[in-house]
Amino acid sequence: MFKKYDQKQQFLLPLSLEDFIAEDHMGRILNDIIDAIDITTIEAKYSKDGCPAYHPLLLIKILLYGYMINIRSSREIHKMTHTDTAFMFLAAMQHPDFRTICRFRSTHLDSIKDVFSQVVTVCKEMGMLGVGKISLDGTKIKANASVRQSKSADALDKEIDKILKESIEIDKAEDEMYGDSIPYQMPKELVDKTKRLEKIKAAKKKLEEEKLEKINVTDNDAKIMKHKDGTLKPSYNGQIAVDDKEQVIVAADLVTDPNDLHQVDPMIQLIWATMGYRPSILLADAGYFSYDNIDLLNQIGIDSYIPDNFYKVEGLGKTKYFTKSMFRFDKENDCYYCPAGITMPFKWVQKRDDEPDLKKYIGNHCSVCVLKNACTKAEKRIISRDPREHLMEDMRKKLRTEKGEELYQERMSTVEPVFGQMKQNRGFTEFLLRGKDKAKVEFIMMCIVHNIEKIGEFLKREAKDLKEVLRKGNLLDNLGNIGEIMMNFAGKKLFSSGNGGLINFFNWI
Ligand code: SF4
Repeated sequence: MFKKYDQKQQFLLPLSLEDFIAEDHMGRILNDIIDAIDITTIEAKYSKDGCPAYHPLLLIKILLYGYMINIRSSREIHKMTHTDTAFMFLAAMQHPDFRTICRFRSTHLDSIKDVFSQVVTVCKEMGMLGVGKISLDGTKIKANASVRQSKSADALDKEIDKILKESIEIDKAEDEMYGDSIPYQMPKELVDKTKRLEKIKAAKKKLEEEKLEKINVTDNDAKIMKHKDGTLKPSYNGQIAVDDKEQVIVAADLVTDPNDLHQVDPMIQLIWATMGYRPSILLADAGYFSYDNIDLLNQIGIDSYIPDNFYKVEGLGKTKYFTKSMFRFDKENDCYYCPAGITMPFKWVQKRDDEPDLKKYIGNHCSVCVLKNACTKAEKRIISRDPREHLMEDMRKKLRTEKGEELYQERMSTVEPVFGQMKQNRGFTEFLLRGKDKAKVEFIMMCIVHNIEKIGEFLKREAKDLKEVLRKGNLLDNLGNIGEIMMNFAGKKLFSSGNGGLINFFNWI
């Protein structure tokens, strides 16, 4: 006996799109969340005249679903609208051309940021955010460019000369072949060389304008960055701030600075803009430690836990000579006490150009000290002190408490798995699009997708119905307000770099 198998059978009732995917399918959760958000700012960008465009909701949904299942190419996404039931459901059986999908993704950075903020608001309304304990982290993601295409001004000049010489050769060969008559088309080889020449010239212009040492010809915005495995690749630095309760990403940005040091101020501004309140606790790794950052966080009342670069090394106790933390500073008498218990008085000031001057303290009895071999190979041990060093000492004290250790451990289990899921589970290890703005769209879409998955897990665990939750929470009103808040922030021009920007921002709030 077999079950009936008839490919020519007719359905008595027409199929409903709703039957294409299961009730708890992630595509359906994505669909309902995107349906709930306010896209009037995107709609306003469309002309009322001409041929009707594909609905932006459709394009947002199929793009996000593509990123969710690691299908990012617009051609692939287009193909899926014909073959995959979840895409068919999300696209309502329409099949936008790959160019339409690609253009939409490339031209809506601000709108994608707004979608991100609204999805965070959904999380907030659902009670998925905690009490403001936020972890900050960054990861290097390879640009869509080869390391060989990162070149210095000299290398660019050499390539320009080479292309020009080759082009002259092609021109000569053409003249011999056609004489005075004009060929129907420019030879492909020459077209390619002309395009390459334009690219190199544009790269050189940017390199000179921004006083860069090297520039990538394929993606001018990408910078050579060191990845965790030690390799150097043209990359971007993806920044995220993650709430501890359900690992929701509450702020995201993509920057070209390989160093995380300058991201504390802008990320806190983004957290404010999205959540409407500042973090109560901020956890970050040593890459974010600077005296300016700690001073700023203290000033605005954020309880931060950020170790300095030497905190871990000193904690391991594996240094050859006594570490600086073994020398006790006496503020009143302006001296240090060394491990042998001997006073090290202040001796001189070392001037610095961009930083406050350093005070130098010196051991006067080192030549007769029995501990000298463990202390210094110089004649005398010298200790330098930055006037802001108390910030680091206070931070170290805080990190060594039970609470500090616990919180720092929490950081690892809050933010690090998010990048793990993004890179390992979804294969997001390289950008598809070139240029900072387009790459940023991709990164923020990955963050939206992450949050939607978190909503899905939360609903399953709490046995809640999304539509019910969205109805109860007056979400639409709140989502409308988010757009307004973002516009106001932009109008106030508070997103400037430097700590001054953040302090002004809080004054304004
Ligand atoms: S070597 Fe000098 S600074 Fe070091 S422990 Fe001995 S006396 Fe103190």
